[in-house]
Amino acid sequence: MSEKIAFIGLGAMGGPMASNIIKKGNKVSIFDIDSNKLKKVSDIGGTPAKSIEEVISKAEIVITMLPATKEVLGVMLGENGLVNILKPGSIIMDMSTIAPHGTDEVAKNCFKNNIHFIDAPVGRLVSHAISGDSLFMVGCNEENDFKKIKPLLDCMGTKIIRCGKVGSGIRAKIVNNFQILSIAQITAEALTLAQKLDLNLNVFKEVNAGTTANNGQFHINFMSKVLKNDVEPGFTIDLAHKDMGLAIETGNNFRVGLPVGSSVHAVYSQARSSEYSKKDFSALLDYACELAGIKPPRI
Ligand code: NAD
Repeated sequence: MSEKIAFIGLGAMGGPMASNIIKKGNKVSIFDIDSNKLKKVSDIGGTPAKSIEEVISKAEIVITMLPATKEVLGVMLGENGLVNILKPGSIIMDMSTIAPHGTDEVAKNCFKNNIHFIDAPVGRLVSHAISGDSLFMVGCNEENDFKKIKPLLDCMGTKIIRCGKVGSGIRAKIVNNFQILSIAQITAEALTLAQKLDLNLNVFKEVNAGTTANNGQFHINFMSKVLKNDVEPGFTIDLAHKDMGLAIETGNNFRVGLPVGSSVHAVYSQARSSEYSKKDFSALLDYACELAGIKPPRI
């Protein structure tokens, strides 16, 4: 695959994802409103563009990795939005985590203009995006579209899961993140209690790993971030709050009560009103310890 690939949104995830496509020998046209992000990926061989119109001028496949629903709707449907300026027959693959109704709205407008649309949100952490080990949840209607995007997914990750038709990927992502983000908060509370009780963290880790309390938030995420005194994102508390909000909103729309999740959402909401907003979501542990008036544990 050469030229004809455009990548929009080069942040914590999009930057390494685009870089991995480039490193595998593809020419990729890139755009971000933040010039520092753009420079980072152009330094490793991406072709920088100054606008959305420029980045897609030759594109047949456009990948977007943007923060939230508002940005995706703006880039897709706004004035000079992708849906209006892309050649018919092109493919848009949105990999951002957004509200399902946003995905549905974009897909509907794409189909009206004979543009193919795939939702392929991303699982796992920034460290996986960097090493090219991400997981993708793919919602796709046509086999031929999937064949075209699969080589790109293979450049960026190691696990591709077909979730069903367009819109099913984003729905799977929201449900899964709801669980991840809730487990992160329970993990933060458990470790805060362990710290207050003066437990040895290494010993408690061993106990935890040997029981059904074992979870990836403790043993993979916290272990590689906050417990090593690294609370730089990663995945920010702001974005985590957004994703919990998407889950609660979706639950409300479908009359599914999510009482524990709603409390967890309130914690993220409170944490993001402080300096924690731009910290990694594993910093929930530091926030919980701060509220308990104790020094946070470190490994
Ligand atoms: P980020 O904020 O680091 O990156 C988003 C990028 O989009 C920024 O560089 C920003 O400048 C750019 N951007 C915003 N508006 C734009 C526009 N109109 N045109 C062009 N560029 C624009 O966020 P991230 O952590 O990379 O996350 C991106 C998406 O992936 C989010 O939806 C997030 O929920 C999801 N996600 C994040 C992680 C993670 O661990 N960080 C993991 C899985 C999924």
